[in-house]
This record gives sequence, C-alpha cells and structure tokens, in this order.
Amino acid sequence: MKSYSINELIQSPPLKQEVEVNGWVKTFRSNRFIALNDGSTIKNIQCVVDFEQFNENLLKKIATGAALKIKGVLVESLGKGQNVEIQAQEIFVHGEADPDSYPIQPKRHSMEFLREQAHLRIRTNTFAAVMRVRSALSFAIHAYFQKNGFYYFHAPIITGSDAEGAGEMFRVSTLDPKTPPLTENGDVNYKEDFFGKETNLTVSGQLEAEAYAMGLGKVYTFGPTFRAENSNTSRHLAEFWMIEPEMAFYDLKDNMDLAEEFIKNIISYVLENCEEDLEFLEKRLLDEEKTKPMAERGEMALIDRLKFVVDNDFIRITYTEAIEILRNSKPNKKKKFKYQIDEWGADLQSEHERYLVEKHFKCPVILFDYPAKIKAFYMRLNEDGKTVRAMDILFPGIGEIAGGSQREERLDVLKEKIAALGIDEKELWWYLDLRKFGTAIHSGFGLGFERMVQFATGMGNIRDVIPFPRTPQNAEF
Ligand code: ATP
Ligand code: MN
Repeated sequence: MKSYSINELIQSPPLKQEVEVNGWVKTFRSNRFIALNDGSTIKNIQCVVDFEQFNENLLKKIATGAALKIKGVLVESLGKGQNVEIQAQEIFVHGEADPDSYPIQPKRHSMEFLREQAHLRIRTNTFAAVMRVRSALSFAIHAYFQKNGFYYFHAPIITGSDAEGAGEMFRVSTLDPKTPPLTENGDVNYKEDFFGKETNLTVSGQLEAEAYAMGLGKVYTFGPTFRAENSNTSRHLAEFWMIEPEMAFYDLKDNMDLAEEFIKNIISYVLENCEEDLEFLEKRLLDEEKTKPMAERGEMALIDRLKFVVDNDFIRITYTEAIEILRNSKPNKKKKFKYQIDEWGADLQSEHERYLVEKHFKCPVILFDYPAKIKAFYMRLNEDGKTVRAMDILFPGIGEIAGGSQREERLDVLKEKIAALGIDEKELWWYLDLRKFGTAIHSGFGLGFERMVQFATGMGNIRDVIPFPRTPQNAEF
C-alpha cells in the first residue's frame, strides 16, 4: 500500500484504491469524521470512521493534535467541502494529544498567545500557510537570480569590520565576561579574544558582497543578519534574513530596474504557486480587518494587492520631490505627523513613508537621491555635492522594504567621507583596496526577507512570519 501526502491525494486522487496517510488530527466530529492534515496543503483529508469497526479505547485517543496513520480506501465524497475521503480500515496512533493540555484547539487563538507556543503554532492553518509561502518565496528568490546570471555568495556571519554602520551589533566573544583580560587603560583587551580583535554578528553582507561582485560580476546573498536595536515594532527583528544583490557596472537606474523586476517576479511566483494558501490568508486578513477602524483597513484584498504590485510601475521620485509633497500634505499642515517636515534634509520616518505610499501615491514608491548626511558613507556622491545615489523602496502596509545605492567607486571621494566621519582608514583597508585596483561603478540593495513575507501574506506583525522570532527580551525557543 502506498503512503501519500494529502496534497497528492487531493491533486490526483487514486480513487477506489487502498491508501495510507499520516498526519495530525484537526478535528474529530461525531465519533465519525476525522479531518487530518499533514502540512503538505492547507486542505485536510476527511477520514470516515465506522465506530463499530474500532475499539472504543482507540477512538478515545483520537483528538485534535494527535498524530495518526490511517489506512483505507479512497472514495469520492458526497459531503460538502471535499471531493474525496478515506474510508478508514486501520488506524494507528503515533502519538496522542491530551485535550486538557494541548494548547492548539480548533478555535481562534490570538497571535500573542500563539507566539508563546511558537513550537506548536505551525499546526495552525495560518502559520502553515505563512510558512509555505515563505518557503516558496525563498525558492523564487534563488530561481530569479540563478536564471539571471547571479552567483549565490555566502557572506560571513561573524564580521571583524565595525564600520558597516547599519545599526547596533551583537558582540561575538569567548572571553570570560566576569574576568576579561584588561589593557593598561582598564579596557577589555580584545587582542586576547578568540579572533584577536573585536568581532560581531553581521548587520549586512554588503561590504563583502562588493568584493565578490568586483570579480564575479553579479552576486547575491540570502542569509541571516543581526541587529541589536531595541526597536519593538511590528517590522523589526533582532535576527532577520536579508537578500543583498550586488552588481558590478550597474548604476542607480539599473539597480532600481533590477529591484522592481525582481520583486514583481517573486510575487508573481507566489501568486502562481500558492493560490490556496493566499486565498486562506486573504480571508484571514479580511476577518482581522473587520475588527479595525475603517482608516486602518487596506483598500484592496490580499490577492489584489499582490496583483497590483505585479501589474503597475513603481513610482520613482527623488527625496527632494518627496519632501515637497510631505511639506504640503494635510497631516503636515495640521501638525498630525509626530515628526513635522519643515526642511530639506530631514530624515523620513515611517509615518512619512507610509503617507507617501498609502495616501498620496497608493502604489509602491522608490525614493532616490537622498541627502548625503542621512545616508551611509559608501553611497555615491552626486554632482551637486549634497545628495547621494541612494534608493529606498517603500511598500503599502510595510514602509521600507528595501534600501540600496550606487556605491562610491572613487578612492579619493571615499577617503574624504571616511575621514569626515572620523573612521580610521586602516579599518577599511580592504574595502579601499577595491577602489585602488580595478575600481568600477557598482550598485546593490538589501531586501528584508521577512518584510517581503509580511507583504505577501498580509501578516501585520513581523514576529509571525519567521519560525522562531528573536526580539528584545525574547529568545525562548
Ligand atoms: P528601517 O529604517 O526600517 O529600520 P533600515 O534603514 O535600518 O530599515 P537597511 O539597513 O537599509 O534598513 O536594511 C535593508 C532592509 O532590511 C530594510 O529595507 C528592511 O527591509 C530590512 N530590515 C532592516 N532592519 C530590519 C530589522 N530589524 N528586522 C527586519 N528587517 C529589517
Ligand atoms: Mn533600522
């Protein structure tokens, strides 16, 4: 007898044949109908039990959450909601789940509750759907780059360069925290640490990716990054995954074109390959939004949102144009923004980004040519001497989903910027070498993977799109 996944049974049912499935009980109704799910699809298979055929003690063990193996004949179903069902002939209980203590019962649980049960929440429809979409997106990302001449590049996770400047870092050390070796000045002597210097978990693989782009041409990273920023928002994690393509001979326009095509491509893939999960997530989102005030509801249902992004050009405007729009906007004039926009040069907050995307343009927006002062040192200075070739991609409901730039390829300009920041050139010697030997224009960006998963699934909190979220005060699992 062949063992099938439930997805196989539903997709191409071997009718009237004996089949075997394994899975977890979603519900057991009337001592007769088992809805079984094995994770292969959002759909359950109905297994019909003739209770006279089975021992009462066995039936008692069948409850929500129990793991079963069921053998029986696959037949067409007359019941509502499914085409096929299994007439159970043999049931083997792999493992019971005591209804009095198993936390995942067939009812609506709050997301907060499920976060405390992160090891079991994957047994809910919502998390299984989200994680299948997450997996599909990962595949789509690799497929896109591999098809388009990019090489997958593994940036180091432990980094010795402390000039990445993207945020607070987690120190990596084997020194005894109670009695670390000290220098004459009383500072911790990292020369005696494992690597002989201070090291941290990476906040971005960009600098290393630049080195590899200047030899392989087009590379991308797709791996975990770490930020010890104490920001408890629905869009920040301490450990998250980032996709960072880096391309030699690309200017900012090429960079924007790539980012837009790439994002549209991976969303298309999900639309084509995750239809049932998206339909489920769309319904979930509609239900959730019903409980919110009108102003906070999305204007489009989930699948339409995704199609909209695929079908429409992203708006591209300069930072300077954005400031003009914001300065003249209603919330700014009525002092509704927490941070008022008065002058050119102001850093844009999430409220401003979301105003542009959700209220003004109602479309994904790429902002570019930002003031040099509010952006990283490695971004290419424009002829005006005050803006850099930076770009941020802003998405409805999310805010910034990706950030990138054309990199400064001119040794003298880069050195000046480093000096102005008070960074010691020696710390960046190898990065500067890239400008000494065969330098060329190049560009790249970083896309936050979880923010993309949030957009694709409509999940409001980033903690619910990564299996085991790491946030301040939280690394339980
Ligand atoms: P934000 O302003 O939202 O904190 P950032 O400017 O710090 O973002 P970058 O350093 O440009 O972000 O990182 C590139 C991308 O990585 C961002 O566009 C975002 O999608 C994602 N990202 C950044 N920080 C986090 C985080 N703490 N958790 C999850 N994703 C993040
Ligand atoms: Mn940040």
